[in-house]
Amino acid sequence: MSNETIFDKIIARQIPADIVYEDELSLAFRDINPQAPFHVLVIPKTAIATINDINADNAHLVGHLYVVAAKLAKEYGFAEEGYRVVMNCNEHGGQTVYHIHLHVLAGKAMGWPPY
Ligand code: C5P
Repeated sequence: MSNETIFDKIIARQIPADIVYEDELSLAFRDINPQAPFHVLVIPKTAIATINDINADNAHLVGHLYVVAAKLAKEYGFAEEGYRVVMNCNEHGGQTVYHIHLHVLAGKAMGWPPY
């Protein structure tokens, strides 16, 4: 498939990843270049390239990513002190992998604005 990304290879176990959660709809793994003490990516198993491709038919997958993000934040002990969930879109948003993913960042106080 021409639109396949490195995340499809992680889902297929063709390349390694430090997987922390999996269910029928999603996969979560530690970012290889962490920007916080805890930095996990939560991705749908069905590829959606960017936020611009979210629609009524696949929106339930995006909601599910947030359910998983909150579950992991609670499980790893960050729910009370807080954390950040980010999804980048296209070049100016800083997106580099065109398979949507939530960045779940925790373990330190985040700054704002994010630049
Ligand atoms: O939002 P963006 O598309 O830039 O995020 C992609 C993320 O995927 C990066 O944080 C990068 O470190 C991560 N990545 C990864 N494992 C790979 C390739 C990229 O965790 N094999």
